[in-house]
Amino acid sequence: MRKVAIIGSGPSGCFTAQGILKARPDWTVDVYDTLPVPYGLVRYGVAADHQGTKAITRQFERIFERQGARFFGNVTLGRDVTLEALRAAYDAVVLATGLSGDRDHGLGRAEGVIGAGQLTRALYDHPDAGRLPDVRGEVIVLGNGNVAVDVLRLLAKTEAELQDSDLGAEASAWLAGRPIDGLTILGRSPAAAARFDPVMIRELGRLQGVSIRVADLPEAGGDKLIEALDGLDGLATGPRPVTFRFGCRPAGIDTDAAGRIRALRVEGPRGPEVLACDTLITAIGFCCDGSLGRDALMAAAEDAEAGRIAAGLYAVGWFRRGPRGTIPENRAESLAVAQRIVEEVEAAPPRAGAGAGILPAGHEVVDWAGWKRLDAHELAAAIAGRCRTKITTRAGMLTLCREKEDAR
Ligand SMILES: Cc1cc2nc3c(=O)[nH]c(=O)nc-3n(C[C@H](O)[C@H](O)[C@H](O)COP(=O)(O)OP(=O)(O)OC[C@H]3O[C@@H](n4cnc5c(N)ncnc54)[C@H](O)[C@@H]3O)c2cc1C
Repeated sequence: MRKVAIIGSGPSGCFTAQGILKARPDWTVDVYDTLPVPYGLVRYGVAADHQGTKAITRQFERIFERQGARFFGNVTLGRDVTLEALRAAYDAVVLATGLSGDRDHGLGRAEGVIGAGQLTRALYDHPDAGRLPDVRGEVIVLGNGNVAVDVLRLLAKTEAELQDSDLGAEASAWLAGRPIDGLTILGRSPAAAARFDPVMIRELGRLQGVSIRVADLPEAGGDKLIEALDGLDGLATGPRPVTFRFGCRPAGIDTDAAGRIRALRVEGPRGPEVLACDTLITAIGFCCDGSLGRDALMAAAEDAEAGRIAAGLYAVGWFRRGPRGTIPENRAESLAVAQRIVEEVEAAPPRAGAGAGILPAGHEVVDWAGWKRLDAHELAAAIAGRCRTKITTRAGMLTLCREKEDAR
């Protein structure tokens, strides 16, 4: 029987497991994750108020509960196990570890300049996130993509609009208490070249406490995004000002005596401008945090387009193609790579590797049953108006994963 290790249990890792097990139900497919919990950015990136998107996890559950994939949580590639050891132990290894660093904005560091990844991880209770940052005053969200829209929407929503999300008590109180004077979403590209999903722009039209202005819009001419943006312009449901700006290239930041940002300088459509800014949230993409030598591995890949790094070593998802693409795009790519893995593994002689037997003795691994215990606990512990209360520390997660039902 052939054995495949998938490192990362986000969408790309799960879809790869699904594809392999659909084609070869008798193979061993082991999915590893550094966290005790599965699903990657579905849990820690997809917006807390988009529970419909997160429902993809029901499909992922079936991979472990019906298709036979095994979950090995709390196992970090590069710390608990090496890539070399995995490659010797399995017929194929798939890198699906995503990209967790915020892309550098080149504007320099200052108090009040925050990456969208840093902010969303803190809001969504990622165990490795820092504290919730000090977001206040005039807030500019820099970026022309859907992550920027997510950040804007969450900061603009009233408490009542966050009903049924999976925000924790601390994040909910933090959002409710932000002393925000105004929100501006600002991008380099003109409106027609922005990468916002028109559906997400239309969703902003349902916000209850905002007054929206969209500057520098061209004629729609049938363009769905421009039509959606045009539909927002002038919306007035409450006091919080929200402004869309396009065609503004950031040129630098000014700070106050305490080192906190106070202005963003831009080259706007009508020349240089200085925009008051007490908080700058950059949502301009993600990058490798330097671990796993991702950039070198992908640069040396035999066929990076098809996800093949070398014989028996593959890459999928954001790890392979960079921080682009939604969950459905990962599905299409991962299923294609899964197909290739099946063909290439079958064409090669079987490896007598030890599979998961290579894990260091005594290392605490979270299996699927352990995750389900934690999942049940988090659902049961949901506070009023929320669908889940996440456990925020690895130690806390491990304790609950360990706890048998009858021991409670
Ligand atoms: C803020 C945000 C919001 C988004 N919202 C949406 C949305 O609404 N709809 C949508 O379709 N797409 C959305 N996306 C995009 C979507 O999340 C990605 O397309 C998808 O998650 C990429 O999947 P992945 O498996 O490649 O990476 P990830 O989801 O990042 O999964 C990587 C996994 O690898 C694990 N890992 C990392 N390093 C190691 C290691 N050394 N050892 C073991 N495991 C490791 C991580 O813990 C993680 O579980 C959003 C992205 C972001 C950042």
